[in-house]
Amino acid sequence: MWKRKLIGASIFILCAASLSVTAFASSDHYHSTGFGNSAKYLKYWKDSSISSYGYTGYADSAVSAWNNISSNLAVSEVSSTPTYGGIVAYTGDSLTGLDVYGVVDYWTYGLFGWTQVNPDDQRDRARVRFDHANLGKLDSKGTTYAFSHEFGHAVGLKHNNSGVSSVMRDTSIVWEDNKPQQADKEHIKEKYGN
Ligand SMILES: [Zn+2]
Repeated sequence: MWKRKLIGASIFILCAASLSVTAFASSDHYHSTGFGNSAKYLKYWKDSSISSYGYTGYADSAVSAWNNISSNLAVSEVSSTPTYGGIVAYTGDSLTGLDVYGVVDYWTYGLFGWTQVNPDDQRDRARVRFDHANLGKLDSKGTTYAFSHEFGHAVGLKHNNSGVSSVMRDTSIVWEDNKPQQADKEHIKEKYGN
């Protein structure tokens, strides 16, 4: 996720995800476990809300921008919600309690149904949710950034505010860098292999 404004709820969520890891190491650009080997066969499903709010093109372009950067990261769209190895996307009017453009959370599926897990844990699903009220304040360049950024989280990247060009910045954002940048691609390859 990334903050629209510096408010309590966003900061809490942001920090809660990174407390258990070495948050400030220079190599710390991605979550360690994620989808594991199933990242080779990721399934992407979008709720009808994505199209009803007019974001189909943004969502599909963002997913395809991350697809195949590594030969071990392949995403294909499916027509029903995937149980394992899935990225699911929704848009709503406004995400309650969060003043953000979008947010990603992570889930596993087991005997007792879906359980939310930490970003560094093995996951079966990344859920991406967009906030139409806040996205509506962005131009198309900014909206592209928001979609690329959130799907970057979905495939395992963390924020990158190191100063290089990155779509994973959440401070001092350069809106033109609204697709995976060189550093982002390198981090994907570090995580998944070439
Ligand atoms: Zn973010």
